Amino acid sequence: MNIGMSMGITQSQRVNCPECDQPEEHASGCTYGQIELLASKQRHIQCPNCQKRAVDENADGFWECRECNTQYTSSHLTVDTAEHTETMLVVDLDAPIGEGVQTVLQMQAKGEGNFPHDKKLEELRKQISQE
Ligand SMILES: [Zn+2]
Ligand SMILES: [Zn+2]
Repeated sequence: MNIGMSMGITQSQRVNCPECDQPEEHASGCTYGQIELLASKQRHIQCPNCQKRAVDENADGFWECRECNTQYTSSHLTVDTAEHTETMLVVDLDAPIGEGVQTVLQMQAKGEGNFPHDKKLEELRKQISQE
């Protein structure tokens, strides 16, 4: 019987952080605090190409889909607009109507899956599992 799966953790049972021993805000430099901060910055925008909620900002400053690696740019100055398809990205679901949507260009060059936030998070999680 798997007891761990059935117990679950509720908000009211929050325990102190295993690293900095704080119940709410983490001490500065706490690995868990950094992970929470980075995780909150990760985006999961719906990809107009494959429909997966997997678009985030990549290392080049473009929007890129983690699933199909299609890149989008909101800056019409960085690419030759004639060669790219115009589409819409809903970048912020919580924004007032009209404000969370960006008109972007779907780029022909695929991205390399280089997401700084994802990488850093992976490193930090590795650090914790090694301790
Ligand atoms: Zn902490
Ligand atoms: Zn995609």
